[in-house]
Amino acid sequence: MSLSDYDIGTMGIFRTNEYLSDPECQKIVAKAADSWEGKKAFTGLVSKTTSIALEDLKNEKNADLYFVLSIAGTLIRTHMVIKEGIKGLNPPPDDYLCDSCHRKGWLNLNYQESKLDGASIPVWLCLECEKLEPEERDVRF
Ligand SMILES: [Zn+2]
Repeated sequence: MSLSDYDIGTMGIFRTNEYLSDPECQKIVAKAADSWEGKKAFTGLVSKTTSIALEDLKNEKNADLYFVLSIAGTLIRTHMVIKEGIKGLNPPPDDYLCDSCHRKGWLNLNYQESKLDGASIPVWLCLECEKLEPEERDVRF
């Protein structure tokens, strides 16, 4: 997915740190995902957090964003990082540490249900944490 593939499933785009620190916004998004029918995406104030119009991202050189989508009633969260104008989707953590045990090493991309908002989210796990059940992992987003 790239910015140009932004489609009807997208409910909104939020700055990652703002979304993670606003439980009210997470609640609104999770609720909307249940019955989203390809409406126009949120733009403007959702609670304390402002969703961003796609147009406003076109010239962005550095950004850390969550795209929240509803696919068949399931909330999906996609992490996009723009660095020096280069877009990365679901990039591994900056320091390449396991999202669960925070050890350095080879990481694999997995998907897990978030404890925060119930969204399906990409997580980067080391080979050890990958073997664990999701509820045994220590993934905090
Ligand atoms: Zn690990």
